[in-house]
Amino acid sequence: MSHSNISIFVPHKGCPNDCSFCNQRAISGQTVPATPLDVENAVKVAIEYNVDPKNTEIAFFGGSFTAIERDYMLSLLTAAKHFLDIYNFKGIRVSTRPDCIDESILETLKNYGVTAIELGAQSMCDDVLLANRRGHTAEDVRNASKLIREYGFELGLQMMTGLYKSDFTKDEYTAREIIKLQPDTVRVYPTVVLKNTHLGFLQEKGEYIAPTAEETAPFCAKLLQIFENENIRVIKLGLHSSETVESDMVGGAYHPAFRELCEGHIYLQKILEKLSKKDKNLEYAIYVNKKVLSKAKGQQKRNEKALKNQGFHCIIKGKENLEEFQIEVAEIT
Ligand code: SF4
Repeated sequence: MSHSNISIFVPHKGCPNDCSFCNQRAISGQTVPATPLDVENAVKVAIEYNVDPKNTEIAFFGGSFTAIERDYMLSLLTAAKHFLDIYNFKGIRVSTRPDCIDESILETLKNYGVTAIELGAQSMCDDVLLANRRGHTAEDVRNASKLIREYGFELGLQMMTGLYKSDFTKDEYTAREIIKLQPDTVRVYPTVVLKNTHLGFLQEKGEYIAPTAEETAPFCAKLLQIFENENIRVIKLGLHSSETVESDMVGGAYHPAFRELCEGHIYLQKILEKLSKKDKNLEYAIYVNKKVLSKAKGQQKRNEKALKNQGFHCIIKGKENLEEFQIEVAEIT
């Protein structure tokens, strides 16, 4: 059974910052802070839906969990730990800022059964962090990551692409610096410009234009392969689809199936590599695992169209027993 999270959002609560891109209300879709009762209700719903506890984590997302008011944080952790012990869930996951981690916080998290900590690194370039009002440096990310690993937690790092004052060269540098920190998981979020944020203001003044989903997808396809080649799981690529984000976004790289868009690019690239020495006068069947047929064809069959535009006559077909991203080409006679 696959991994699942019982997600509880702690929007902006206690966060001392106002990052250029952040509008937690839009991202989490709610404004009211979560309570211990919300933890209980979320767990009950998950149990009713028969989640597999040993593959399920109680996850606090959204704000800067370790920066919220201590009693409030402990009340949420107490509720989570209670259900962790009853149902034997895999663990508790929290996300926070790199400058809100120290030994004493890690001791507390350990005592309450937290197993995984995700840090919003966003960029490993100090000029980009500064321009986007992050309030921490790349060195903070390195130090916090090291400490988290020393305490034996699973480490997750989150990065963004297309931020103000960044570009794909800087974003690739960020990915490579993140790899050096040996995270277990990574989330990649292309920048989405939301209303009532500093980025929205910069965009209005004409000082910033965030890359679109179409512009970002080929680059994120590359990042996905860079991380996977290092055996680092990319557990999220693109903001999760939500009506609130859709209604609050004013620019940037939002797409409801962004990861699929990126994977489509990888298939196209791999198919073109396979076809590179083939005769364009002949017709070919391209085989991929049948489970990924729609990704290989691309959204709205864009890959089939792209192959045609490059002069290839191909049909993309599904086949049993091929690995993900494995391509076979056969001439149609
Ligand atoms: S630290 Fe996190 S919650 Fe706080 S403003 Fe930045 S992105 Fe939002």
